[in-house]
Amino acid sequence: MKLVCIECKKSYLAEEIRYRCDCGNLLEIISDLKKFNRSPKQWKQHFENNNSKPPFLRYKDILLPDLPDNQVILLNEGDTPLYPATKEMQEYFKITNLKLKHEGMNPTLSFKDRGMVAAVSWAKHLKVKLVACASTGDTSASMAAYAAYARIKRVVLLPEGKVSIEQLSQPISSGAITLELDTDFDGCMKLVQELTKKYPIYLLNSMNSIRIEGQKAIGIETLHQLNWEVPDWFIVPVGNAGNISALGKGLRELHELGIINKLPRLAGIEVKAANPLYISYKNNWAPLEPVQAKETVASAIQIGNPVSFKKAVRELKHFKGVMEQVSEQEVKDAKAVVDASGIPICPNSAAAMAGLKKLIDNNIIKQEESVVAIMTAHGGKFSKAVIDYHKGNNKFSNKPKSLKANLETIEETLGLK
Ligand SMILES: *Cc1c(COP(=O)(O)O)cnc(C)c1O
Ligand SMILES: [Zn+2]
Repeated sequence: MKLVCIECKKSYLAEEIRYRCDCGNLLEIISDLKKFNRSPKQWKQHFENNNSKPPFLRYKDILLPDLPDNQVILLNEGDTPLYPATKEMQEYFKITNLKLKHEGMNPTLSFKDRGMVAAVSWAKHLKVKLVACASTGDTSASMAAYAAYARIKRVVLLPEGKVSIEQLSQPISSGAITLELDTDFDGCMKLVQELTKKYPIYLLNSMNSIRIEGQKAIGIETLHQLNWEVPDWFIVPVGNAGNISALGKGLRELHELGIINKLPRLAGIEVKAANPLYISYKNNWAPLEPVQAKETVASAIQIGNPVSFKKAVRELKHFKGVMEQVSEQEVKDAKAVVDASGIPICPNSAAAMAGLKKLIDNNIIKQEESVVAIMTAHGGKFSKAVIDYHKGNNKFSNKPKSLKANLETIEETLGLK
């Protein structure tokens, strides 16, 4: 494993604590996977042989081959469900062959655990004393839990009032020093970079390349669940753009190793309130113009200056990818439809679903194609969004009814009388 600049290709030792090249660009982990000398069949056999191990260990040769097994901090992440769409979802989204990979079914209820199992294990390997991150809510929840389990001191920077109450509760309960700052996520991200540059504090945002390696497991595990049959599309919500970069990198490596024989297409979805990648896409992948992210129900993707912009664009181009943007109402309605199918998803995941609907309506995704949508967090982290929607007058509102406590009113309300 080495750290290699995504632009000038200068390389550094993997064990060096650094997030950017001397030229200022992001780094990425490059591993020599050829050294395993396995045919595609042998790779698949290797994963089968390790099927009883937790996913991070099962796929470790392709994630972090140089991490010693005894440094791994597991909280039982991964092996998340791949739900076939229900009939109601098929009708609303107008597509039959749709599956939802629910990363909200991870220990801290978001996909961030996939990257954090890798990065906190690496932090332990490097004997780091203090870890830090900025967060829209889920990174801090995940980092706090994994660092707690690894017994590493931890500090999180949050934009005050911009994460849900459940998300705020997570780092506090996991014993992190929790700093609520009077700025937005982009402001927290800027400060945590300055802090970790000045002091020996290990930065665990997704600009840490180790996290991206861990997050590759989402796509790899999905393909394994599909018996290595590649869907036509992967749909994913985009905030800081680490997840779509990881998804692309993992699938690209599977393809290079011959484990899969075609590439899916990628669709990244932003909300109109925070759409810098969408704007770039519409301008033929023009360089990043950061935007001031506005308030959105999809608070985890309220990001105007995505750190992994260049990595994401590289993957999107490689996978003939597209970007789409969605409105607040589209997000809320999509969430209500998926939730009502018995699969509680977060508003950010719902943005992906709303984007899927739009791409199908615009005939970019064809109705006969197969789609896997990545659900990034669990609905239980965002109860306020649910209550606000259902107590309001929305298309799919399921208003709770406040009744006098007697049998008669219940019978009347249920139409039994
Ligand atoms: C972090 C996060 C995202 C965005 O992922 P990026 O890697 O920042 O693009 C989307 N949804 C949820 C729930 C998240 O926590
Ligand atoms: Zn460089």
